[in-house]
Amino acid sequence: MNTWLAKTQRRKEYNAILRLWRLCVFARNSLFFNNLPARMISQNTIQQILGRLDILDVVGSFVKLKKRGSNYLGLCPFHNEKTPSFTVSPSKELYKCFGCGKAGNTISFIMEHEKYSYVDALKWLAGRYGIEIEETFQNDEQRQQMQVAESLYIVNAFAQQFFSKALFETEEGQDIGLSYLKERGFREEIIKKFQIGYSPEQRDAFTKEALAKQYTAEILIKSGLVANRNDQLMDNYRGRIIFPVHNHSGKVLGFGARILKSNDKAPKYINTPENEIYIKSKILYGSYQARQAIDKADECLLVEGYTDVVSLHQAGIENVVASGGTSLTPDQLRLVKKYTNNLTIIYDGDAAGIKAALRGLDLALEEGLNVKLVLIPDKEDPDSYVNKVGVSAFRDFVQANKKDFILFQLEVALKDAGNDSVKKSEVVNKMAETISKINKVEDFTKQQDYIKQCSEILRIEEGGLHALVNKFIRDRIATQERKDSFNDAKQIEENAKQAEETNYDDATFNLLFKDELQEREVARILLEYGIKKYDDDKLVGNYILEEMVDESLIDNKDVIRLIAAFKELLQNSPATATRSYFIHHPDTKLSALAVSLLNFPYEESDHWKKEYSQSDGYQKKLFEQPYEDFIKTLARDNGDHLMSFLKMGEDKTNMEVESAVNYLKLRKIKRMLLENQLDMEKQHTADEYNMLHQTHEHLKQMEMELTKKMGAVIIR
Ligand SMILES: [Zn+2]
Repeated sequence: MNTWLAKTQRRKEYNAILRLWRLCVFARNSLFFNNLPARMISQNTIQQILGRLDILDVVGSFVKLKKRGSNYLGLCPFHNEKTPSFTVSPSKELYKCFGCGKAGNTISFIMEHEKYSYVDALKWLAGRYGIEIEETFQNDEQRQQMQVAESLYIVNAFAQQFFSKALFETEEGQDIGLSYLKERGFREEIIKKFQIGYSPEQRDAFTKEALAKQYTAEILIKSGLVANRNDQLMDNYRGRIIFPVHNHSGKVLGFGARILKSNDKAPKYINTPENEIYIKSKILYGSYQARQAIDKADECLLVEGYTDVVSLHQAGIENVVASGGTSLTPDQLRLVKKYTNNLTIIYDGDAAGIKAALRGLDLALEEGLNVKLVLIPDKEDPDSYVNKVGVSAFRDFVQANKKDFILFQLEVALKDAGNDSVKKSEVVNKMAETISKINKVEDFTKQQDYIKQCSEILRIEEGGLHALVNKFIRDRIATQERKDSFNDAKQIEENAKQAEETNYDDATFNLLFKDELQEREVARILLEYGIKKYDDDKLVGNYILEEMVDESLIDNKDVIRLIAAFKELLQNSPATATRSYFIHHPDTKLSALAVSLLNFPYEESDHWKKEYSQSDGYQKKLFEQPYEDFIKTLARDNGDHLMSFLKMGEDKTNMEVESAVNYLKLRKIKRMLLENQLDMEKQHTADEYNMLHQTHEHLKQMEMELTKKMGAVIIR
């Protein structure tokens, strides 16, 4: 066989597909990442920075280093230690800690220590060595966006200094602002650390000075510092205490302005409006001041307000940030996760506080965070409570009152539901959904523990809760699969880049062309309809297995094993080949596959939407049963009964079976085409060649017909 020719042929296809992926990836990138200007530091600047790097100088500015032989030794900045095990090798330009294992080069040190991105680390280094940064932009729009962002940073920095001066250096600031802060127990050093300031009551004190410094009205209004009332510019935060909000590298993104006079009808806080740099969903107040403490404590405390953060800091509890009172967003959780996996939420014990704390926390579980909850008693907030009881009592209280987030949620929900059986059913459902979100492989035992504990509290069978949890996992995997196709595209592009450089081999090839989804679809059809009748003398399973003349058509080893297991059951005791059997299969790999396959998402018809509960995939009537019946349905020995509540659509069985079988046929034909083609490339007599050519035409015809048939239902 002429493999070289085969490869060139395939390489052509491969390149065509590659070009398509590239286009897609490019389109996606420009769609999704455009809201942040893609700042690229020019190669020239990077070279200058790299040329100046000195690991001893950089690391030495954070860690006290002592020479030991050819290396330097110090106390590790990434974990708490008393005897130094943090080593820097100037000759290799590397550091390594023999205690916690963190290691890297100068740039990664800055990234790790300051929690910077690569670009931010380069900028920090450029600043340190006085290297001017050349930035490149992809287009004018980006350049403009970038310029607005830079202007906002500059005007914010100016405003912060103005408000600080107004607080400390003017009579009004001292009499009104500073005395208020001191009354609340804030010391000067902490006021300075958080750069808290004061905005004078005069209507345009800041505006005047900013205009005199040539800041444009446009940028002043955009920053939220200045408002335009009846064509007159005036200060927006008059007579308020100013809390600057910093990004992780200490730049001021915006401000929270707190009112002083409590009798005013005005809002307690005015915050910077959303603009190019102040994006509320991405901000955690205090993260700049807290980042190293969080790293060391391996725990992040989350409170509601600015003053909570400042008070706790002053008391010596520095690993604390605030979400600004809203429920946590995915971006904020990711920010936390950059520092630690342990999130402890400290909120007021009132109903609103509890609700605020619980909202959005399922997301935290998805991010793999361990979430604990502490409720501050007696109408106190963390700020007032730490001032009342003192720091050590506060620490003790937090330690002693950390509640597990999931169990707490259950407690609250059950109390809420009272004796309402529909509500109770909803609680079970909600808990199953929440638990299903602990879905990382390493957290498997944790999930099992929760199922056990929750089923005890709810007094339902563990097995039933288990089935519900699995269902939610299944749903999510199905959704995830759709999302993943984008990541796959990235991966494929990566692979492709490498392939261009090296020279791809057949393994890469198979990876690229693996019809993973279609294979899974065949397995799903088997599980879903395998023991239903296909026609008068055949089950669907028999029909599919007959059509699958060639098992080598399937690549996925788990799918092959599932098919083999199914085949065996079908021969020996067909009645047992139910989906429930595979979901609870003793071979965990098979059961995981079965769980992920079933309930693959299809478009729902209006009929479904009316009849079935949207969010959960179970029929509404499951949740409308009396509580006792509902619990029975969930009981372990009643799995089939529960399954009977699963969504059943109009009968699409045969359509789906045909589509799966057609796919197998198409795959077979494609292989035959390829083999035929390889044959044609060899030397032949005219007759032989004619025959091969006819075969080719015939196969092509079949391929076309099948593709046409499948067009409507083919997955991607
Ligand atoms: Zn260490």
